[in-house]
Amino acid sequence: MNNVRDEKEIRIQGIPAAPGVARGAAFVFFAEGLQVPCYSIAESSLENERQRFLDALVATRKQLVVLRDKVARDLGEKEAGIFDAHLLVLDDPAFISEPIQLMLQRRTNIECNFHHVAEKYIECFSSLEDDYLKERVGDVRDVAQRVLYNLLGLSQRTLSEVTDKRVIVAEDLSPSDTASMEKGHALAIVTDSGNRTSHAVIMSRSLRIPAVVGLMSATKKIAAGDDVLVDGHEGIVFVNPSEKTLWRYGHIEKMRTAFAHRVQAEVALSNSTSDGKPFKLSANVNGIEDMEGVHKYHAQGVGLFRTEGIFLKDPHHLPDEEAQYAFYSDVVTAARPHRVIVRTLDIGGDKPHDTLLSGGVAEANPFMGFRAIRYCLERKDVFRTQLRAILRASIHGRVKVMFPMISSLDELLQARDFFDKVCAELKQNSIPFDENIPIGSMIEIPSAAYSAQLLAAHCDFFSIGTNDLVQYMLAVDRGNSRIAHLYDPCNPAVLGILRHVIGSAKDKHIEVSVCGELAGDTMFAPLLIALGADSLSMTPTAIPEVRYLLRHSDATALNKLVNEAYAEQDPQKTSQILREYAQSRLTI
Ligand code: PEP
Ligand code: MG
Repeated sequence: MNNVRDEKEIRIQGIPAAPGVARGAAFVFFAEGLQVPCYSIAESSLENERQRFLDALVATRKQLVVLRDKVARDLGEKEAGIFDAHLLVLDDPAFISEPIQLMLQRRTNIECNFHHVAEKYIECFSSLEDDYLKERVGDVRDVAQRVLYNLLGLSQRTLSEVTDKRVIVAEDLSPSDTASMEKGHALAIVTDSGNRTSHAVIMSRSLRIPAVVGLMSATKKIAAGDDVLVDGHEGIVFVNPSEKTLWRYGHIEKMRTAFAHRVQAEVALSNSTSDGKPFKLSANVNGIEDMEGVHKYHAQGVGLFRTEGIFLKDPHHLPDEEAQYAFYSDVVTAARPHRVIVRTLDIGGDKPHDTLLSGGVAEANPFMGFRAIRYCLERKDVFRTQLRAILRASIHGRVKVMFPMISSLDELLQARDFFDKVCAELKQNSIPFDENIPIGSMIEIPSAAYSAQLLAAHCDFFSIGTNDLVQYMLAVDRGNSRIAHLYDPCNPAVLGILRHVIGSAKDKHIEVSVCGELAGDTMFAPLLIALGADSLSMTPTAIPEVRYLLRHSDATALNKLVNEAYAEQDPQKTSQILREYAQSRLTI
C-alpha cells in the first residue's frame, strides 16, 4: 500500500469496492478476540453439556432468523440470502455431531470441542484453491463465533453501537456485523482485508454507500473520530483531508453526478450509433431476481441465461422437471416481448456440484475436465430433463437455446441431435412447445473458434464467451489472482480469434453476439461492435454506460478504432488505444 503524507493529511490506497464518495467521522470497530476456556467434565455432567450445546444452537438459529428478517426488510431478499447460508452451516450434521463425539472422547467442555471442530473446518476451507469454498470460510467463522458467544453467555459486540452517521473502519466485517448496523448510520465502509466479493462489499453496494477494502492497516492509521474522506471509485481513503483535497473532491463529485445524469438521460433512447446504425444490448441473468435490472436498463432481452443457479441451490439433489420448468418460465415470461437465450447446463469448472459430479474421480484440472456439454452428453437423463423443461417454458415467450463449451462439430451435432429427439418426444405426447427455436453454439474454446466456419453451417447463431475463450487461448486460469496480469484480452492472438469468429459468422449469415465480460467493458464494447458483433450481452448495470458510449460513436470513428487496434502488436499500446477511445466519450 502506498501512503503519501500531505501535511496532516494521510492518503491510503486500497481496492475500490463500491462506488461513491463520502466524508465523516470514523467509527473504528474491532471484533473482540474470544478466549475459549477448556476444562474437564465429569461423566455425570456430559448429558447436561450436550443439552447446553443444543440450546446454544437453538439460540443461534433464532438470532440468525431475526437478522435474516431485518436484512430482508432493510435490503431485500437477495442480501438476506447470506443468512440462509449461515443457517445451512448451522444445520450441517458435522457441525453438530463432531463436537459432541469429541466431547465424549475427551471428556472436556463443549465450547472447547466445538471451537476445535470449527477451527479445523476453517483451516481446511482456507487452504482450498476454490474461491467459492474459500468464501464459505467467512460464513463458518461467523456462525461459530455466534455459537461460542451463546455457549459462554456473552453478548457480541456489534455495529448497533453506531448511533450516528459514521465512516465504519474495521479489520474485516462479517455479514452479522454489517447486518446489525442501522441503515443510514454508515456513510462508508473501509476495511483492512477483503476483496470485491466479500459480503461487506455486497452489502455496501446494496446500501449504495462507498466501500474501500484491502487497505491493510486502516485500523492502525485511523483513530475514532478522525475526519475521513472515502473515494469508492478510486479506492482511496484520506484521513484529515486537506482543503485542497476537499475542493478537488467537491469538484469531481459534481462532475461525476452531472455525467451520471447524462448517461441516465439516454437510458431509454434508441440503441443506434450517432450515424444511425442499430446495435443490440441484452442482459446476462441468473434467474428471475435479475429481471428487474433488465427492464430498468432497457435491455433488449436476455442474451445469456445461466441456468446453473437452480442446480447450485441444493448441492445434494437435482431439480426435477417441474421445478426447472417454473424457473425457466418465470424468466421467459418476464422478458416478453424480448427473447431469452437459455444456455444449457454449464456445470463443472468454477461451478462445482457435489451430486452431479459425484461418482467421478476428483479432477486435477476441472476447467478442462468433465463439464458443461461434455457432462450433458454423457448424463443424458439430466440433459433430457433440462431440455424438456426449457422446451415447455418456450411457449411463454421467445426462447433460443445454446450449448456451452462446444469444442468440435461432432459435439454440436450430438447436442442438436439429442435436442431434436427430446422435441419429437414432446410432440408425440402432445406437449406444446415452440417448434422453431433457434439453436446456437457458445464459442469459448479455441478449437471451436478456429472451426467457426464449419460450426456456423450447423447452427443458427454464435455467442462468444470471452471469459473462457481468453483463459483457454492464453492458458491462464481465469480465477487465479496470481497470474491475473497474464489474462490479457489485448493479446494479438485473442484479438485475432475474435475477428475470425465474428467474420466467419458474417460470411455464413448467422447472428453473432458476445456474452463474456468484455461485452460490458467500455474498452472492448466499441471494438466488438466495430468488428460486426450483432449484439452484446452483459450484466444489466453495465448497459447504460455502454449504450451511451455507442450512441456517441459513428462508423468513421469505429473503423478507425479497429484499424488502429489491429495495426498494433504490443498489447499495452492496443490497450491504450481502446482506453483512450472510451475515455474520449465518457469523460466526466
Ligand atoms: C464465458 O465464458 O465468457 C461465459 C459467458 O460463460 P461463463 O462465464 O458462465 O463461463
Ligand atoms: Mg464460459
